[in-house]
Amino acid sequence: MYGDKWYYANHNEEKKEVESGAVYSHYSALTQNIVITAHNSRVSKTMFHELHHVQEVNMGKTNCAYKKCNAVLDKAALPDFSTPEGRIWDVSAFGIDAQWEIFAMYETDAKESGKTLVYNTWYTEQSTYYGPTGEAEIKKWIDYQIGRSDYDFGVTATPKDQFMTIYTCGDNSDSDVKNAQSRLYFFLKQVNPVSTLYGASATPAT
Ligand SMILES: [Zn+2]
Repeated sequence: MYGDKWYYANHNEEKKEVESGAVYSHYSALTQNIVITAHNSRVSKTMFHELHHVQEVNMGKTNCAYKKCNAVLDKAALPDFSTPEGRIWDVSAFGIDAQWEIFAMYETDAKESGKTLVYNTWYTEQSTYYGPTGEAEIKKWIDYQIGRSDYDFGVTATPKDQFMTIYTCGDNSDSDVKNAQSRLYFFLKQVNPVSTLYGASATPAT
């Protein structure tokens, strides 16, 4: 889904107001960095909470770190980043029906600078753009994300790639921190079909 700013943070795909919201993109236009987000619905263990399980199992954890969830993490059922199948995901967005490979992933804590979110998501707010511009800056952005990654994917990216950034909120209880910035980020690039700016789609098998 995509709509005005954070509309789908509290509306479902039928435009009904719901606390859980929808899985949605920030923009109603295709950019070089497609950003997809959804709530970390910790209590119901739905929406993007599962991304925490994917993160944790690959960091060697056996149970969800969020105590009230505490789900047993099944290594066999969750993506294994050490294999291509585990780190290459099928995602369709903006008419691009493709496979995307993760090259970086990390979680920020509550005290992270608010600038991280707008930089990571190439955000524009009140006509100020916070993302990288031009190949040199995009290269820096890639290096920054790989440098911060909690997992070594052994995957590189170039400024000519089509990116996808998937994020959700952290599992910590941050109600005591004003404007908490705890978030879990995944950075991906299009790999199949080969990455081209603003995406080529996979040709459906006939
Ligand atoms: Zn959990």
